[in-house]
Amino acid sequence: MHDATRTRRHLEKEIGTLRNRVSFLENAVAKMRRRGDINGPPPLIDHVTGLPSRIQFYNTLHDALVSSKKSGEKLAVIFLSLDRFKLINDTLGQFVGDALLQEVAKRLGMCLQKHDNLCRPGRDEFLLLLPRTGDRDGVARVVERIFQALSDSFQLGCQELIINSNMGICAYPEGGDSADALIRNAYAALLKARDLGQNTFRFFSPQSYESEFSRLLLENDLRRALDRRDFSLNYQPQVNLQNGRVVGVEALVRWDHQTLGPISPDRFIPLAEDMGIMAPLGEWVLRTAGEHHLACTGYGCQPVRYAVNLSPTQLHSGNLVPWILAILNETGLEPGYLELEITEGALLRNRQATVAAFEALHARGVQIALDDFGTGYSSLAYLSQFSISKLKIDKAFTNAVTTDERSAAISRAIISMAHSLGMRVMAEGVETQEQVDYLRDLGCDEIQGYLVSCPLPPDETMQFLARHSGAEFPL
Ligand code: C2E
Ligand code: CA
Ligand code: CA
Repeated sequence: MHDATRTRRHLEKEIGTLRNRVSFLENAVAKMRRRGDINGPPPLIDHVTGLPSRIQFYNTLHDALVSSKKSGEKLAVIFLSLDRFKLINDTLGQFVGDALLQEVAKRLGMCLQKHDNLCRPGRDEFLLLLPRTGDRDGVARVVERIFQALSDSFQLGCQELIINSNMGICAYPEGGDSADALIRNAYAALLKARDLGQNTFRFFSPQSYESEFSRLLLENDLRRALDRRDFSLNYQPQVNLQNGRVVGVEALVRWDHQTLGPISPDRFIPLAEDMGIMAPLGEWVLRTAGEHHLACTGYGCQPVRYAVNLSPTQLHSGNLVPWILAILNETGLEPGYLELEITEGALLRNRQATVAAFEALHARGVQIALDDFGTGYSSLAYLSQFSISKLKIDKAFTNAVTTDERSAAISRAIISMAHSLGMRVMAEGVETQEQVDYLRDLGCDEIQGYLVSCPLPPDETMQFLARHSGAEFPL
């Protein structure tokens, strides 16, 4: 995840917490006011738009909920936010910003019916209450009307502006039965909508909240697992197709969760990336793989190459080369026995820095393999700039190489292209003898997959390597 996105998420979380506090205080004030503990009128209006204040809106929502509970009618709350408002305010000035908010408030007002309500709880946010329009279709029609109304450009003095927006919707009774819960959940749905892109909306669903919640729990557990180094590595053997020798292993990280059991790295690696803890996790992987390599050679196995996966944040950390060299130095693993696996997508960013880093690693003997090859869109010219020694054909193509002409053609093209650039080719995910025969005919150099072995725990890897040291693997 980009730094900017992470920062935005963090800020949104903070804002969410503050919003909850404000809403709690406002709720308390509103209650005191209803009990008569506070005298005098509440602040009545938002001075920019002339809309009712948030407190008034809250009171109206509270009253609407009371009557909905009596009548059994549904109601809906919509949280709307404008995109890029800060930019408009900062570049064109507050006067234009205020004029835009006034015009938005006017257009929103025109989409509502007389019993509906509208307020502006935050700088570029609006809350709408639809007391008699709780069913999904009815709300979706209002949402459609709002998008339509906001899609026309805004003429503000000599400026013509186009704005985008997002909406999160929460309906009573499914989404909550208090004013607080409805507003909070509409806001949670708004955050989800923003992730989908501009001009989108989302209904709050308890399930999605649930999955957000379980993600949060998993995040906590992952952080704890990292503190306690609760991971292990499995190693999957790789075989040279021409001479049948076991030439390497790929290190694959495992997390056995205390209550949930094994969790796939496909699930927790992206989470670790999002949480910004991929660097220490990756460091643990590289160090552990290096130590295992030395333990195996100490055990009498012929040394083989260790492939370690690098995630995009590790690649773009800015200190990749010194970081890798330091770990190699500490563990005593020779650079010639290390291969780093990188996916195509990771190469699209910071091209110059990546080219330089690969050259520096290559000069010291570390090899770079391009993982999951065939799933991205890299051109030949683009790839040839990087010091890459190997392409790994994605298992989706390997899997279909004997049954699907297109996969066979892609594999054939990858092999001849790689060879013409002086790269080797490995097919991953090889499961059948037919695939081996076909790939050998195509000139593929190496294979990895369940046919040779599934990923093995450290001690079994050691036994596997000892058994096949110097011997040909029967293929
Ligand atoms: P990958 O790098 O493409 O790893 C290969 C995956 O294919 C592994 O899944 C492996 O168990 C599986 N596999 C191996 N042989 C076969 C086969 O014959 N058939 C099929 N269908 N699958 C096969 P795994 O271990 O679940 O890893 C999934 C992904 O997690 C990896 O994909 C890699 O992207 C990521 N990953 C794993 N360990 C690490 C790590 O230490 N660091 C980083 N950054 N990513 C990792
Ligand atoms: Ca890999
Ligand atoms: Ca792969």
